[in-house]
Amino acid sequence: MVNFPQLPRLKRQSVKERESGDKQIWQPTCQCFCCHDFGYVQASLVRLIVPDYDPDKDLIPICQRCEANERWEHPDVIPSFDRRFTREICEQLHEYDRANWREWARKKQEDNNKVIDFSTVVKSLRKRQRSQLEVEQAQRNHLEERAK
Ligand SMILES: [Zn+2]
Repeated sequence: MVNFPQLPRLKRQSVKERESGDKQIWQPTCQCFCCHDFGYVQASLVRLIVPDYDPDKDLIPICQRCEANERWEHPDVIPSFDRRFTREICEQLHEYDRANWREWARKKQEDNNKVIDFSTVVKSLRKRQRSQLEVEQAQRNHLEERAK
């Protein structure tokens, strides 16, 4: 008898499990859109205020909208941050990015629905009736198959 290697079962995800997983994508993963809960403002948002901002060379603006910046409150770290982004600016950036996210999620959801709705795909495929010529050809093929 051959000794094959033995492996444990690998269970497939049910459609339901996959769908609930998909839905979670449409929930924001962060509380603060200004800093994505990292405590410092996202570079793409900083550039709305400092157009030539370079995150490799410039002081990084700290988010003053949420509590996430507390982790950077260390005397050695504080000097590397730009503190000019006030709570009001961070709030504006948060609202701006959240609106963008909502629009992105809405589009994604629409695309998702399009893919899932196979009934509309089938309907559009059947919209065109077979022409008389195609019907005759199909009948001929059928008869030829039977005659074999
Ligand atoms: Zn924040």
